[in-house]
Amino acid sequence: MTPDLILTNARILTMNPACPRAEAVAVSDGRIIAVGNRAEIERMALTDTEVIDCGGSTLLPGFFESHLHLFFGGAELAHLQLTHVEGEDALARAFHAFAAANPDAPLLMAQGGHYAILDHPMTRHDLDRIIPDRPIAICAHDHHTVWANTAALRVAGILEGAEMPHGHEVVMGEDGLATGELREFEAFGPVIAIGGEKRPNLGIATGEEPSPWPTEAEQAIDRAKIANGLAHAAKHGITSMVNMDGNHYTLDLLRGLQAEGKLTARVKVPFHFKPNMDLTALDRADAMTRDFDDDWLTSGFVKMFMDGVIDSGTAFRLDSYPGRPGYHSEPLFPGPRFNEIATEIDRRGLQIAVHAIGDGAVRTTINGYEAAQKANGKRDSRHRIEHIEMIDPSDIPRLDALGITASLQPPHAPGAMDFAMFPTLDVIGRTRWNDIYLCRTLAEAGAPLAFASDWPVTDISVMRGIGAALNRPAFEGAEDQRVPLMQVLHAYTAGGAWAAHREHVTGTLKTGLAADIVVLSGDIETTAPDKVSAMEIRLTICGGRITYRG
Ligand SMILES: [Zn+2]
Repeated sequence: MTPDLILTNARILTMNPACPRAEAVAVSDGRIIAVGNRAEIERMALTDTEVIDCGGSTLLPGFFESHLHLFFGGAELAHLQLTHVEGEDALARAFHAFAAANPDAPLLMAQGGHYAILDHPMTRHDLDRIIPDRPIAICAHDHHTVWANTAALRVAGILEGAEMPHGHEVVMGEDGLATGELREFEAFGPVIAIGGEKRPNLGIATGEEPSPWPTEAEQAIDRAKIANGLAHAAKHGITSMVNMDGNHYTLDLLRGLQAEGKLTARVKVPFHFKPNMDLTALDRADAMTRDFDDDWLTSGFVKMFMDGVIDSGTAFRLDSYPGRPGYHSEPLFPGPRFNEIATEIDRRGLQIAVHAIGDGAVRTTINGYEAAQKANGKRDSRHRIEHIEMIDPSDIPRLDALGITASLQPPHAPGAMDFAMFPTLDVIGRTRWNDIYLCRTLAEAGAPLAFASDWPVTDISVMRGIGAALNRPAFEGAEDQRVPLMQVLHAYTAGGAWAAHREHVTGTLKTGLAADIVVLSGDIETTAPDKVSAMEIRLTICGGRITYRG
């Protein structure tokens, strides 16, 4: 077989335990045809083979992003970004500049606000002082709270409150009007819709399909948002991703891009099961699984939320929140009901991914996976838990025992990357600092690991994510949770592929697998851990095609 591309003079980490290191790789027709030393691979070159000298840099399997939100992440690239904006003056300056640049936008939407951006809980009145006459809103970095001004609440039709499903809340003030704080997706959905972005958010808000079905022009707008997201991912070395919200429509848009030759990563999209659904809704998951099953677009799994997040007090925990005796929050699916749902999903041969942040939510989820295994027998299910920000020590060995993947986001740990240690660590309480954001402890306990950004919740940059995993500071009095380099790289490549049932396609560099490759700007093994975040992506190749050149 004639190679059309050879990458040589690289420090290759194949993630294939049978031959972990190599110097060069040959690619033909989108697949790897040889991995080996320079002399043997370079000898394969013919006149029309493109040969790229990697200059001694690290070459890895293309990064496998195990948890992100491609559709609304792509849409949010056009929003005001508030990472590192602190205090009312800076917030006002940012919004005024954004308003001037977007005179016709029906909603001025900002992303990345943190919960203590002002020195008091934010209300609509704070935002009215910044811009009173146009709808404006801020989405919290964790995407679980939005703060809106009065104009936005009025246009959205929720200024006087709204009936919400369990777990979602339009917070009301003593004056009988909404305060401006909107908790969880269905509460802030009407505000997002003002900006024309209802469709990108459907997959996470309700899991339903758009109705009426979007026109071709609307679909083209949506495909462009996804294409922006894909280009952003390619820049960061990503060649595969697990989208963590979804519906059939999202996959239809991706198939449209695939037909146009614009699909630059392999994408797995779940059916999103919400508490108000009954088990027959899983027929839609079966349909998605049937309709999308090639090397690029797949489904085959169901995403659920078991709880909310720590900062807003919606994470379901076993102990009480500090200063709130008896308050644990609650699971979105009570244990017995989750057991029944998990058993049915598993019976259909589908994988399950559950967002579980509090230790109560984590335990409820593990119990459900155990119930499914008892009912259906042990199979290669690879059910996974997303986040696991708190875990009771007695539940740690159950992950390995039940084969549950810990899908973790190293950038989420307070102090590791862009999220401040406080107030989050206070909301958790000092007595629990040894049970939170465990990476190394879970790895050492044998849990399969997959790492991710949860973009747009944090920066999609895999290099910064690797840096966060390598360098994260320990919480006072708690154990060191830094993970060794090779394990980190595995969790961003082969570990992710395994956790997504894609290891027969990608995730390692070996003959016959897809030519999904990333070349870094230097040798990661000889780079000081605190300098890894600053490394750059030189080349991203997906299916043998160069999707980014740095
Ligand atoms: Zn997420």
